[in-house]
Amino acid sequence: MTDPRGFLAGNPFVAERRPTREVLVGDVGIGGANPIRLQSMTTTFTKDTLATCDQAEQLAAVGCEIVRVTAPSITDAENLRAIRAELDRRGVRVPLAADIHFTPNAALIAALYVEKVRVNPGNYADRKKFEVREYSDAEYSEEIERVAERFRPLVRRCRERGVAMRIGTNHGSLSDRILNRYGDTPLGMVESALEFLDVCEDESYFEIVFSMKASNPRVAIHAYRLLAARLKEREPVGGDYPFHVGVTEAGDGEDGRVKSAIGIGALLEDGLGDTVRVSLTEDPVKEIPVARALAQRSQRRWEEDRGRRDPSGPEARLPLVALGIESPYDHARRPAEPVDLGGLAIGGDRVPAVELAFEAELGELPGWLAALATSAALEPDRPCESILLAATSGTADEALAAARRSLAELGARFPIAVRCEAGAVRALSGEVDRVAVPVVASGRELEEAAAAAIAKGVGLEWTLRGAPGALVESVGAVLDASARAGLREFAIGIESSRLGHAARVVAATLSELRAPAIPLILRHRREPGSVDSDALLDLAVDLGTPLCDGLGDAVSVAGFADPALALDLAYRALQGARLRTTRTEYISCPSCGRTQFDLEETTARVRAKTVHLKGVKIAVMGCIVNGPGEMADADFGYVGAGPGVVNLYVGHEVQERGIPEAEAPERLVGLIRAAGRWQEARS
Ligand code: SF4
Repeated sequence: MTDPRGFLAGNPFVAERRPTREVLVGDVGIGGANPIRLQSMTTTFTKDTLATCDQAEQLAAVGCEIVRVTAPSITDAENLRAIRAELDRRGVRVPLAADIHFTPNAALIAALYVEKVRVNPGNYADRKKFEVREYSDAEYSEEIERVAERFRPLVRRCRERGVAMRIGTNHGSLSDRILNRYGDTPLGMVESALEFLDVCEDESYFEIVFSMKASNPRVAIHAYRLLAARLKEREPVGGDYPFHVGVTEAGDGEDGRVKSAIGIGALLEDGLGDTVRVSLTEDPVKEIPVARALAQRSQRRWEEDRGRRDPSGPEARLPLVALGIESPYDHARRPAEPVDLGGLAIGGDRVPAVELAFEAELGELPGWLAALATSAALEPDRPCESILLAATSGTADEALAAARRSLAELGARFPIAVRCEAGAVRALSGEVDRVAVPVVASGRELEEAAAAAIAKGVGLEWTLRGAPGALVESVGAVLDASARAGLREFAIGIESSRLGHAARVVAATLSELRAPAIPLILRHRREPGSVDSDALLDLAVDLGTPLCDGLGDAVSVAGFADPALALDLAYRALQGARLRTTRTEYISCPSCGRTQFDLEETTARVRAKTVHLKGVKIAVMGCIVNGPGEMADADFGYVGAGPGVVNLYVGHEVQERGIPEAEAPERLVGLIRAAGRWQEARS
């Protein structure tokens, strides 16, 4: 049984970096006291020295600290020498990492010229044919020994030359041997990597960085956590290897950024991650600002939380199991009672609901509601299920009257909540569905607010605000007040600049106080003055972190002048956390020197035909060497098979081979139709 806190440096309610050793990649240190390193990968053909050097130089110029280059063959690996020489000639000192799949001999050559080699244990020297067979223990051990003997020469070469190594396991590309024993699971990913670590340690080689990537952020989070915990168990032998974190095949645009932010952000919130690669199906130069924003956000938090590591603080005494989560290494939603709070139905087995909060001058409310009504009419699959009025001017009654007037004129209807001080609930005269009461008042006032909500027949949300540790007492206060007033159905809203940790504190405290099933509303507020690109990442990390922990029955987004954007991002975060699917899910690789077509353009062509297929997962992958394995749980696959030709898949089964690129998107549509997954687009 793996320790449920084993992945953490300390307290699960603060952001504390996992202590790691420093691994040097050329002059660049990963782990230890170094900042989070940023990296990316070239998409040029590796044999094209000038194009690869141009792209590496562009990456270095925007702050990429390690550049990965694929080495699919021995001749590609040999060309790394020319690439290194040309970069030296240009004065570009960025360290290079060679990416190896299926070609141990190429790895041995690459290690002569680069500062780091990445191997994928799933395909380094192991079989990957999706074969189902039982391995006896003896056969299994023999296979491990066979793989170890193929791997040992590379380990020795790296040790002798001072070359670092990434043992990079990917969900979806585990070997048949591992798949048959552990399934395509975080445990399989971890076991696969640890087998390679055994060989390295046996050879006294320790310059190792690990990665556990998946296109599903939740799977990636669980795998990295499990690896951290398992490595800790290896101490004092030495389990403090740094982590390279990322979400693989995240796709492009907002979806790619949201998925990456959820996975990477949640890991960094737990202190896991020493170098970051954001995989986007775009020019790799565009990955660096995203990686930098995520890294800087977390480094700030690690710094700020340094002073909060109070081992005697109230939250430090809470047991993690009290969260209501069975295991931090496997996803399960925290069970919550179903409640209907004035039209906002949450909890039970419902998907998390979406609310928008209005927090501006009252005079801006009619325009905001008009924009929201337009968006709601255009996007019926992504409804706004509640609005919270918290105008910065006027009274709650004035806000209610203005909202009712505007909505009547627009012919629109949304359940309306109003933020209202505890002492003002009784005096509220406007027609309201729910009140959100900030918990700052005395117990007596809270009890009166609860009694007033019962008398008026309106739903009630207690809104807890502040730093995670400060919420422990508030949870007790609202439980007492509700019990004294006889209020049975209510929710707890959580508003904190540390939303993920605050949600853990509230869930754990509720559990300690034997009220484990009260629904939780996660409240995110946009940073004032932030640009849209930063706001997107911030929202994704803030909401995605607790959602991936299984916490949250509704999300509420505030601070966006444009409600359509707020709604759009809230739904993308829910889909990124795989909790509420309202769009087609694209899994597309970032491309590399193996890619057989312009991946960005191809993804756009596939998207144009399939963007309305809610819930269908489509993979667009650049090559047949890795593509079919790494498309993980996609329903359909579009995979580059050679110059200008594509193979089409249903699940992992290839259905059509060698289709000319021009015909392939339409043939893919044919397969989707034949599988009964096609829907006509709404006109
Ligand atoms: S799937 Fe894409 S990124 Fe992965 S090796 Fe193939 S072309 Fe490169």
